Amino acid sequence: MKLLIKGGTVIDPAAGKVAEKDILLADGKIAETGTDLSTGGVEVLDAGGKLVAPGLIDMHVHLREPGFEAKETIFSGTRAAARGGFSTVACMPNTNPVADNAAIIAYIKNRARAKGAVNAFPIGAITRESKGEELAEMGDMKEAGAVAFSDDGMPVMNAGLLRRAMQYARMLGLTIISHCEDKNLSAGGAMHEGYMSTVLGLKGITSSAEDVMVARDILLAEETGCRLHIAHVSTAGSVRLIRAAKARGVKVTAEVTPHHFSLTAEAVAGYDTSTKVNPPLRTAADVAAVKEGLADGTIDVIATDHAPHTVEEKDVEYELAPFGLVGLETAVGLVWTELVATGVLTPLQAITKLTINPASILGLSKGTLMTCADADITIIDPEISWTVEPAQFAGKGRNTPFTGRLLKGLPYATIVSGRIVMRDGIIK
Ligand SMILES: [Zn+2]
Repeated sequence: MKLLIKGGTVIDPAAGKVAEKDILLADGKIAETGTDLSTGGVEVLDAGGKLVAPGLIDMHVHLREPGFEAKETIFSGTRAAARGGFSTVACMPNTNPVADNAAIIAYIKNRARAKGAVNAFPIGAITRESKGEELAEMGDMKEAGAVAFSDDGMPVMNAGLLRRAMQYARMLGLTIISHCEDKNLSAGGAMHEGYMSTVLGLKGITSSAEDVMVARDILLAEETGCRLHIAHVSTAGSVRLIRAAKARGVKVTAEVTPHHFSLTAEAVAGYDTSTKVNPPLRTAADVAAVKEGLADGTIDVIATDHAPHTVEEKDVEYELAPFGLVGLETAVGLVWTELVATGVLTPLQAITKLTINPASILGLSKGTLMTCADADITIIDPEISWTVEPAQFAGKGRNTPFTGRLLKGLPYATIVSGRIVMRDGIIK
């Protein structure tokens, strides 16, 4: 099976190049890249006026299966990914049961192969049931296909336990992904602690709840030599700590979500529970710091933390609503509108943080356009303007704070192993 992508502007982050080129895909791999490739006898996808990139990778999603299929499934969540331009996702282990052993990791992998519209790689839990009490079977999970370890949503409060996990992860050559939150500092909070929480009468989560854990985890990574990835950075303090750690050679990387660079705590006014997210939406100064971190390379990755909930679960008082919002289908639009159109990132920088950087953190041989690489491709229309309408989402969740927002930039096609799985919004 062959497919020729013709006439697009090809962004190749591995080569650091942007150029008008054609790409020929054959038998699930990239066969040839060049100018004016022959169209004879092959299906042609016209990419004129569009950007052609390696398939986007979202290294932080919650697919909710097994256990929470009312919120999302591997089927629906990977369709949301396809619609959002992501050919690969890595899914967090806070399912029910928790993905803390080889059997569940294998189950998720098999389910993804059978039901997934795109590639899905499981992340294993650090501790049993993510309870933070004893280590999970990390080696077995790696054998079964886990690509990293995280107790996302349930920070490992015991520093001694995390230190041991880092020693094991280092031996296994995998990354620890840290959800940095000191539970004693954040307890009972529903939004960022500051002016808006006072105005709205909601209990706040102080920035230091994140900062102290980022500092702790960096020190532990420095001591153990483990690769550490900081999930969903939301504070100026975190950015400062990560920048300083990188400067002295600590193996730390970091991600930011589209909502944390697009919104502040002001969005909570009106008590829309789709703005309730953990870590919370912060201040304008934090957003500016996060953007600076993206621009200077302190923050390596853009990841969505796609966290679907049912309408019923979110349709309650703000304090009672679960944390989380859906991000897969708005990510590219927000990256292009908030970061690329404003000059914070070049298209090449943005694509780098959505492809080769997450691939290298997870040890995936993806995110490149080299000959013989997997034929995972995302085509983006950077000029099209569109309005966010949750009713049109392919995923099950409707919990987005961006309803009605006008965005510029939309994925046009998602190709996985040489097969078009999404084109013009339609999933095949
Ligand atoms: Zn988290």
